[in-house]
Amino acid sequence: MPSTTQQIPYADLDTVRSNPENISVICPLCQKESTYNRVSDLGITGFIANQQVNCLQPECREAFYLCGDMLGLNFQLVILSCQHLIDTKDYTRCIMDLTQAHEMFFKLFLQVELVFKPFGLCDASHLNILRKLEQSLIKELKTLAFAKLRNVFMHMMVSPVQHGNLDTIYKFIGHLNDECYAKPPKVRSLPVNAKGNLNPLLNSIYRSDICTLRNTVIHSSAYHPTKEEAVFFYRETRKNVLGLAAILDLKSEMHAYRNC
Ligand SMILES: [Zn+2]
Repeated sequence: MPSTTQQIPYADLDTVRSNPENISVICPLCQKESTYNRVSDLGITGFIANQQVNCLQPECREAFYLCGDMLGLNFQLVILSCQHLIDTKDYTRCIMDLTQAHEMFFKLFLQVELVFKPFGLCDASHLNILRKLEQSLIKELKTLAFAKLRNVFMHMMVSPVQHGNLDTIYKFIGHLNDECYAKPPKVRSLPVNAKGNLNPLLNSIYRSDICTLRNTVIHSSAYHPTKEEAVFFYRETRKNVLGLAAILDLKSEMHAYRNC
């Protein structure tokens, strides 16, 4: 087995395939594919970067570096794994997963705006308050389903929170389940001069029917989504959720928002 960093080869990036649970790669030494479960094989739940692993083939077992995990955010991995569900004709699971990816995206956005960005602005003496913010947000998020999460997201795009005032944010979190979020904001109130492709994507996610279809699947056992529906919502979700995550520059690590 190679003993120094220089001798350990890197796997070819083009051979890496990711999904939320596993990452597969062709071993650069024996040229056979190994599949690693993120948690039980690697002990990692997030983005895998430059990880030294051993080939899982019994006759090889050589060490190499694994990198090229496509994306670090869980909802991104869920969305991309839906291509496989379409290939295997698992359209019901595809719609369920795409809807869940939306919910994960909305929740990360709330976490970033209500905990991570305030954390980036405050000093160490406020860490206890930040912990309270995070616990309070986790409690509120448990009861927010797709429709209300999307409404809160849209309202926050129209009226952004001030990250520097922790008291205001704490109160804001306490009101996430209020009736004012039972409806989305008026379309005409969406920001109009936003950068990049933000406006078309906001309008598109605002009007998306994926949750309606998901609810039909759940509540009507006779209904099974078609391939056309799965492909349509897969493309729509890639465009909207991945596009908005990129424009909003969402990161899953609190420390990424320190001093920025
Ligand atoms: Zn090998």
